[in-house]
Amino acid sequence: MRGTGGQQEPEAAGPEGAAGLETALAHAEAACAARGAQLTELRRQVLRLVLEAEQPVGAYALLDRLKAERPGAAPPTVYRALDFLLEQGLIHKVERLNAFVGCADAGQHGEGRVGGEHEHHHHPHQFLICRVCGATVELTDRGVAEAIAAAASRAGFTAVRATVEIEGTCARCAAAA
Ligand SMILES: [Zn+2]
Ligand SMILES: [Zn+2]
Repeated sequence: MRGTGGQQEPEAAGPEGAAGLETALAHAEAACAARGAQLTELRRQVLRLVLEAEQPVGAYALLDRLKAERPGAAPPTVYRALDFLLEQGLIHKVERLNAFVGCADAGQHGEGRVGGEHEHHHHPHQFLICRVCGATVELTDRGVAEAIAAAASRAGFTAVRATVEIEGTCARCAAAA
């Protein structure tokens, strides 16, 4: 459970067990419904595949896995579902890897948040990508987002979206080295 405010521990984007997965899917369905969008069975399947993956997963890997359940699935099937999930803020794209991860914050909306912040389904985030094991962790550091917006603003630029992907070595791999 996340605390209210303060520093948040980075969470791996991986699965949290079957119960956690079902909870995440239920939250996702509710979040979509609250916005008048429908998490159809297909979209739910694709979201589950993304959440189940240990690492960020590419569209074609998802398609392969989806075909186990839906033999007729084609690339547009997956891309349309991914677009929906991105639009709903349930997943993010890791540009560096051309792959998708579940939002570490999805399903937390409205829990322990203040003001209108739970209205956002797009939030500034950063990724830490381990070059050794590929582990990708999502950070939500407001200070980073604000610094980028301020720097852009000083250049007379209105920032709308920033992709912040930091490559390096995760704590586990650093300890093993
Ligand atoms: Zn997120
Ligand atoms: Zn690592």
